[in-house]
Amino acid sequence: MDTLQLYCHVPFCRNKCAYCAFYSLPGADRAQRRRYLDHLAEELAGAAPEPAASLYFGGGTPSLLEPDELAELFDLFSRYTSLLPGAEISMELNPETLTAEKIALIRRHVTRVSLGVQSFDPALRRTLGRDCSQAALDRALSLIRDAAFPHFNCDLIYAIPGQTAAGFAADLERAVAAGADHLSCYALTPEEGTRLAAAGTVPDEDFATDCWLMAGRILAGHGIRRYEISNYARPDCECQHNLAVWRGSRLAGFGPAAASYDGNLRYTRPESLSRWLAGDAPEQDWLEPAARRREIAAVNLRTTAGWLRQDFLQLPGAVEAEWDDLLRRTADLPPEWFDRHDGGLRLTDSGLLFWDTVAAAVL
Ligand code: SF4
Repeated sequence: MDTLQLYCHVPFCRNKCAYCAFYSLPGADRAQRRRYLDHLAEELAGAAPEPAASLYFGGGTPSLLEPDELAELFDLFSRYTSLLPGAEISMELNPETLTAEKIALIRRHVTRVSLGVQSFDPALRRTLGRDCSQAALDRALSLIRDAAFPHFNCDLIYAIPGQTAAGFAADLERAVAAGADHLSCYALTPEEGTRLAAAGTVPDEDFATDCWLMAGRILAGHGIRRYEISNYARPDCECQHNLAVWRGSRLAGFGPAAASYDGNLRYTRPESLSRWLAGDAPEQDWLEPAARRREIAAVNLRTTAGWLRQDFLQLPGAVEAEWDDLLRRTADLPPEWFDRHDGGLRLTDSGLLFWDTVAAAVL
């Protein structure tokens, strides 16, 4: 059954990391956060979404909000939205912003936290322009461990200039030792407009591939399996929100820069706090329905579960001929990239490494 997922974008950060291309505002003051919460209340009051299967607070840095602001954020969502039984509620956290008071509050409202560590090596965090002291990171990890959240993700970045294979292996081991049941590990990609891109940083692609292979190997040794190109989890600890979104689930996004999908149209709220506060209309991304289904097909091929024919046909409007077309579009690619058992279409590990090529063929 297609369910609705909710997303809330909290756009504030302490500083701008050197690699970050997300919409985030460094150094926002209390007055700006007040205006944000007031407008979020209006947006939610006007939306009246149906009961949702997940709620994800991302950013930016949701944990930058002060305890009274966080309490207000949770209160807004419980007042204006409802969740299905067993819904997953996630929140992204930044170590420097955490206190015992905030963690206790967050623990009462969320089922899953995601901590932006990026690297346990302070020198590499400096390379990333990541504002996080070792003391803050250690304190955050101990607060999270003591709070015993049902699920805990740790974000890591690899292929950082100056990083070694042994250093990344140590990062993986430290995340597991800290109790993470889920890891998101991304290769450093200096996006246009970031400080790292401006500095001409070019990560070593061969080293990035070595790190990707190593992550799969080391984490599997701890019972943590890759379930998407960049995501790893213990059994039943996968991020349900992301799995649903990758599979084309409907999404209602709130806050500046939040994306939504109504099963037909994708739209993004203004990527500017002032335009969002002024009530500017979201930007629409229209795609012809069959092309939208191919886009969803390509995105979900990033997961190791991939597609079963009957699941693809559950997409609204999907017909048998489109599934056949999907198989035809991938037929000339190397057979070792695919696992086509049980009438399905999934990428093998070697296929996941060439997902870009597969996606280009599917689209
Ligand atoms: S904390 Fe996250 S959202 Fe904020 S600047 Fe850094 S990477 Fe971007």
